[in-house]
Amino acid sequence: MKTCKLFASALFSVGLSALALQPSYAAVEGEPSPQFNSGGDVSLTPGHSNHYMAFAPESPEMLARMPTIDPETGLHVSQIKPGLFYVTDGVYQSAFLVTDEGVIVIDAPPSFADKLPDAIRQHAPGIAIRYLVYSHGHSDHIAGARVFGDVDGLEIVAHADVARSLARAERPNILPPTKTYDAPHSFSLGGETVELTPASFHAEDADTIVYLPKQKFVAAVDTITPGEVPFMNFGATSDVGAYMTLFDTILEYEFDHILSGHVSVLGTREDVLKARDYSHDVWQTAGAGMATFLDRFNATLTELEYQNANLAYRATIEAVRRDCASEVISRWTGKLSVVDVWADSHCQTVILYNIMH
Ligand SMILES: [Zn+2]
Repeated sequence: MKTCKLFASALFSVGLSALALQPSYAAVEGEPSPQFNSGGDVSLTPGHSNHYMAFAPESPEMLARMPTIDPETGLHVSQIKPGLFYVTDGVYQSAFLVTDEGVIVIDAPPSFADKLPDAIRQHAPGIAIRYLVYSHGHSDHIAGARVFGDVDGLEIVAHADVARSLARAERPNILPPTKTYDAPHSFSLGGETVELTPASFHAEDADTIVYLPKQKFVAAVDTITPGEVPFMNFGATSDVGAYMTLFDTILEYEFDHILSGHVSVLGTREDVLKARDYSHDVWQTAGAGMATFLDRFNATLTELEYQNANLAYRATIEAVRRDCASEVISRWTGKLSVVDVWADSHCQTVILYNIMH
């Protein structure tokens, strides 16, 4: 009972500070009052502390930026520079560049890959698909590649480490790369240039930043989500320390558009700057919270009479995470959409990094 009291009071005190920062969501009549996201599971059950109504909807700014999806095809395809098209189904993104000598495709997400050849044919009638570039080796961005399996002479371009990873795994929907690189590499087709720069901000093996200099276009997949805070755990990065440096790397390019692979919105330089400021704010906030970590852990462990160190660890991580998320959400609500959905995961990612580094 003593343990229960301890955790109830510790968590309640954190909960109170969070409630003080509660954004002003409209309550639904008959529903419990919205409460602040307390970091636990999201629930559709009324009365649950993390009822979905406790979360802000997508911001009006974000909704206004979303392109219209064609109900017939389930896709949005638009020409953003002469010959350069970006494609989205509202969740994933891909792009293709039409040149006089052929088409270059960047990524083939399985969520809409079946429709990609038709979309390309419509905008590049009679022009052969010559290249497919993999941004990285994750299935959710390239496991639609099989739709190009019957394209004669198709060159599939990927980082050598991605090719090695693919060769080790049974992933029949992903066509094996035919051209690889492990240093900056570029190729040209029909007078257009594609620059490929190896990077390390997300995948376990290798990422590639794809740059089209004439079109001032960057593809850096699984990085930012324009208009929103990054996806869970900073785009599910495998290395949050490296992730924190990617913004300045991207900003070194001269670009008008950035394709980040997710959500329907194409990003701008401003989106990268905002994502950088947000991510660095989380980094600093969670880092500062670590100053109290050991004291909090030891106090909790003492209360638990040294009987359950795992529980003490979990409670300490949760307490530091909640303090961090409360601060971050209070600073970023109204600036980036869905901050209340993902801030706690961002804080936890940085807390774990700090524990290990
Ligand atoms: Zn990925």
